[in-house]
Amino acid sequence: MKILNPATGTEITEITEDNRETLLKKFETLKMGLAGWSDTGLNARIDIVRKFSSLLESEKDILAKSLSDETGKPLQQALNEINGARTRIKWLTENAAQYLSDETMTESADMVEKISYEPLGIVCNISAWNYPWLVGVNVWIPALLAGNTVMYKPSEYATLTGLHVDRLLKSAGIPEPCFQVAIGEGKVGELLTEINFNGFFFTGSYSTGQKIYNAVAGRMIVCQLELGGKDPLYIADDVADVNAVAAGTADGAFYNNGQSCCAVERIYVHEKLYDAYTEAFLKEVASYKIGLPSEPGVYIGAVTRKAQIKLLQNQVDDALQKGATLAAGGKKIEGEGNYFEPTVLLNVNHEMNVMREESFGPIIGIMKVKDDEEAIRLMNDTEYGLTASVYSSDQERAQKILKKLDVGTGYWNCCDRVSAAVPWSGRHHSGFGATLSHQGLRAFTKPKAWQLRKSK
Ligand code: NDP
Repeated sequence: MKILNPATGTEITEITEDNRETLLKKFETLKMGLAGWSDTGLNARIDIVRKFSSLLESEKDILAKSLSDETGKPLQQALNEINGARTRIKWLTENAAQYLSDETMTESADMVEKISYEPLGIVCNISAWNYPWLVGVNVWIPALLAGNTVMYKPSEYATLTGLHVDRLLKSAGIPEPCFQVAIGEGKVGELLTEINFNGFFFTGSYSTGQKIYNAVAGRMIVCQLELGGKDPLYIADDVADVNAVAAGTADGAFYNNGQSCCAVERIYVHEKLYDAYTEAFLKEVASYKIGLPSEPGVYIGAVTRKAQIKLLQNQVDDALQKGATLAAGGKKIEGEGNYFEPTVLLNVNHEMNVMREESFGPIIGIMKVKDDEEAIRLMNDTEYGLTASVYSSDQERAQKILKKLDVGTGYWNCCDRVSAAVPWSGRHHSGFGATLSHQGLRAFTKPKAWQLRKSK
């Protein structure tokens, strides 16, 4: 398998893919490691994960460069990602003891009722490339903390990062048979779904998630899916500083080239502020520096997957053909690498694909609405349900709107952010189950109820 640099089109290296036989061998290795790892005390596991986090800190420049080279992400954003991964690990390690230890629920003179959290066993994590450190940490860190052994399949577009993860986990003290990496393209993911894992944890698109869910459905095992989104954002008519809000929300749409599961994918603006907001938004977008990910100050790097350029162009063409106005960008940037202009479409509506299908790139539609009710109706008009955001100076008003939206995360005056302290979960085509928070720690366990009578 060739690893290409999406910013230049050049080959970085070539790597041998796994096949059925090598995957089965790795699975057997993980089986051997399970008993020892789950018997290792929780405190010892926490110590190893903390060591891993400090290795990320000491190697962050090497890791960021490698991530930037294989994904086209600006170097600074790659560094931010590694720092963000460490912040999540900090929360998970600080809270693991509280949420993974036995819990006594009732205690009387002769009876104790308690819950223990046992590892699921050997779990498989098939993952995405857009934030390989962040979405990876959401899964393999709590899985390992809880005493599972893990097969990790990084996306083919984040293979080098996957190999760094493996190397650093082992350097930190994770025993060889407790963590294995499956190398390869989608076919390798498909082969993994045929293996008898005790749980599947998938981060990726709705269409692949559906295939994985179907493949394992008959086996009565845990299958958790973190999928795509078409995340809406509403600007109410009472925001105090339109320019600041426009800059912040443009960042929510264009950071990481819009390749975030919770990137702002559609914007609704109250008619009273529409002109001022779009003017400030366009000014912000025009200020973005586009270039090689390694150049200082670059904000828009390369789109990671070449195939995405065609999807973005189709969305622009479809919108223009149906009456949208192109206010910025709109096409591939000619020359080396997968570059697409940061694109803003106005006069959009829900007949257009750009307002319905996940774009996962530097493109956004902005639509005028007359009131909160219309905003709510349009925000809910989607098959996805990951996040939604409301900007308003009135918290009560914003929360009232957010309560009516069928999403896993509601943001007030912020967007495109993830916190380890609260569950990360989608609804409908955005998936189900949760990572992060106490729920995400326990997602990799099965509860055992203990009913213990002290005397006969
Ligand atoms: P894909 O669904 O294309 O791929 C995800 C993973 O599945 C990759 O490792 C891929 O391998 C593998 N895969 C592909 N086909 C199969 C198959 N038939 N069986 C098993 N595995 C398979 O998603 P992307 O990697 O392109 O990620 C982008 C998507 O992920 C977006 O929709 C985004 O919104 C979503 N996402 C969701 C997040 C969330 O938390 N909800 C977070 C981050 C991203 P390979 O890449 O090697 O082909």
